[in-house]
Amino acid sequence: MASPLESCWLYLITHFSEFQLATVGTFLIHESVFFLSGLPSIYFERSGLFSKYKIQKKNNTPEGREKCIVRLILYHVCVNLPVMLISYPTFRFMGLRSSLPLPHWTVIVSQIIFYFILEDFVFYWGHRILHTKWLYKHVHSVHHEYATPFGLTSEYAHPAEILFLGFATIIGPALTGPHLFTLWLWMILRVLETVEAHSGYHFPWSPSNFLPLYGGSDFHDFHHRVLYTKSGNYASTFVYMDWLFGTDQGYRKLKALEEVEGKKY
Ligand SMILES: [Zn+2]
Ligand SMILES: [Zn+2]
Repeated sequence: MASPLESCWLYLITHFSEFQLATVGTFLIHESVFFLSGLPSIYFERSGLFSKYKIQKKNNTPEGREKCIVRLILYHVCVNLPVMLISYPTFRFMGLRSSLPLPHWTVIVSQIIFYFILEDFVFYWGHRILHTKWLYKHVHSVHHEYATPFGLTSEYAHPAEILFLGFATIIGPALTGPHLFTLWLWMILRVLETVEAHSGYHFPWSPSNFLPLYGGSDFHDFHHRVLYTKSGNYASTFVYMDWLFGTDQGYRKLKALEEVEGKKY
């Protein structure tokens, strides 16, 4: 007998074509998850709620927040959506499927762990390259316009960087030819992860307090508030790449100092 989840999936695949689900469906899920998860940190900053857990004392201006939202909508419609439409045949070629049965949960979990590790690796090296002088000046400085990040700034970047980030996100799925369900779940988790990393808040319930090797907001906030040549902390999800290649020294020193002095900087 089909599970409730499989019944929902059956409804989707009988009412929409795979092309519609993989392109417009993916776009709508991405927009919903991104804006719903990103808006609360703007509200917290404006209202002063949870100020005790805010990483930086500085706040963004209303104009700064507005500019970010307008630019994001423009790029999502003019860059992300066309890329999703164009890349569908490639995904088909790589073995994307949407038919029932849904994959076993062990397959879904192992594929998503693999995607996270691969994305983190590709992102780390790409991000380090984006911090070289020319690329920083002409491409990556857009993402760093916000030295005090908030959730939605996670996707605020130059179109060329959006394409690179998109590549890092889809390389894992493209290699394994996943089920569309796994692809959606991966995209949702990746969006939640990067929105949290840019939220500007480190809560007692933040995932980095529970997940070993996970970077999270405190780790990536450092990357935004320190000068681009000195920041380090280039990885997207985990902390081990920066540790292995010695690019987290500034951050480690600050953490050690905070430990000794018993206060946050
Ligand atoms: Zn950067
Ligand atoms: Zn960032």
